Amino acid sequence: MFTIKNHLEVRNDHLIIGGVDTTELAKQYGTPLYVTNESRVIENFSAYRKAFPDADIYYAAKANGSFAILRVLAKQGAGADVFSYGELYIALLAGIPREKILFNGNSKTDFELQKAVELGVKVSVDSHDELHTLSKIAENAGKTAQIAFRVNPDVSPKTHPKIATGLSSSKFGIPSGEVVDIYSEASQLPGISPCGIHCHIGSQILDTSPFTEATHKMMDLVEKVVGLGIDLEFVDMGSGLGIPYKKGEKTPTPRDHANAILPLFNERTEALGISPKLILEPGRYIVGDTTILLTRVNTMKKAAKNFVGVDAGFNLLIRPTMYDSYHHAVVANKAASKPEETYTIVGPICETGDIFAKDRELPRIEKGDIIALLDAGAYGFSMSSQYNGRPRCAEVLVKDGDSDVIRSAEDVGDLMGKQKLPARLM
Ligand SMILES: *Cc1c(COP(=O)(O)O)cnc(C)c1O
Repeated sequence: MFTIKNHLEVRNDHLIIGGVDTTELAKQYGTPLYVTNESRVIENFSAYRKAFPDADIYYAAKANGSFAILRVLAKQGAGADVFSYGELYIALLAGIPREKILFNGNSKTDFELQKAVELGVKVSVDSHDELHTLSKIAENAGKTAQIAFRVNPDVSPKTHPKIATGLSSSKFGIPSGEVVDIYSEASQLPGISPCGIHCHIGSQILDTSPFTEATHKMMDLVEKVVGLGIDLEFVDMGSGLGIPYKKGEKTPTPRDHANAILPLFNERTEALGISPKLILEPGRYIVGDTTILLTRVNTMKKAAKNFVGVDAGFNLLIRPTMYDSYHHAVVANKAASKPEETYTIVGPICETGDIFAKDRELPRIEKGDIIALLDAGAYGFSMSSQYNGRPRCAEVLVKDGDSDVIRSAEDVGDLMGKQKLPARLM
């Protein structure tokens, strides 16, 4: 037995996750199959909590919104960052307390704001327009909405442009220069209690200096907002901490993230004589490396490249297609065998971009082999679709040698879903 990457092990040439043989999982549940190691979710969450002992950790539900995973995190005391009524609904159902939920979003519907008010969760307000809508909704409901403003701190997170969210050109947040005015405006509005401040600068951040820069800018704003006589109960710094997708890649840890934020946060709040709760919103770090996508080889072809055609497509894991991201590939039934050939692993979808892994040195592959795509836990299943008439696959949770289905595979009946024919087409 040896460790291949983080919690993943190899025994008798087979890849093992959570004490379970992945080739057995493929046999028992079929492929494609998402497999999540529950213990690893808890380890990652604990690492964050340990790095930020006085902070609240609001897991970003969009990274992986599966009910069982939210339940695991709820039991660990996690809060949640939700971006839609759907995420809010599932987070509450999973047992995340409403006091530990922040409803985010740059374009919420009135219905969503209504639900946030009714259910009593905090709202991160993204515009003047939204502030006034929320004020009316809360006033009509006879309630007070606890709000933060999402600040655009204009910090480059040095990551993929599609996941940079805190640049001045981004669609998210209130421009820094308008922040003070909007707090004083909010403090006059009925149904509104401005009690927090929020930012989130991007995702898959591999250098901690942008976190420090964002903290500087946020604490400058905190000082000004407190100067208005507003009592800030929380400062939410978002997250975006990256993970090592490549084997052996050095990436910052939650402790490095803490070192980039905490000294400054503590020093500045102390100087102001305030003690707001610090909130972090990690998503990818908590679930990214916990999950693999198992896929079976349908067919081999030697053409421009040495193609391996598998049964999962970008409808199940879109990151390589959308962000050019790297996922380490392991032949799960030959996990200790030495590389012999260069392969390009492709899905069955009718698009040239349906490529999971380019030019990888792998053991000799044949039809029927099982390939594991690693680190598929964040923005994997949660971004899946039925594109190309492909039902979504099952999800399994493993722990200490046991496995349970946490989401059944869809079938072609689910492709019909809620579709209907107008009577004239019957
Ligand atoms: C997506 C998101 C997060 C989580 O980002 P990760 O890169 O997964 O850690 C946190 N906060 C907000 C507001 C987000 O939109």
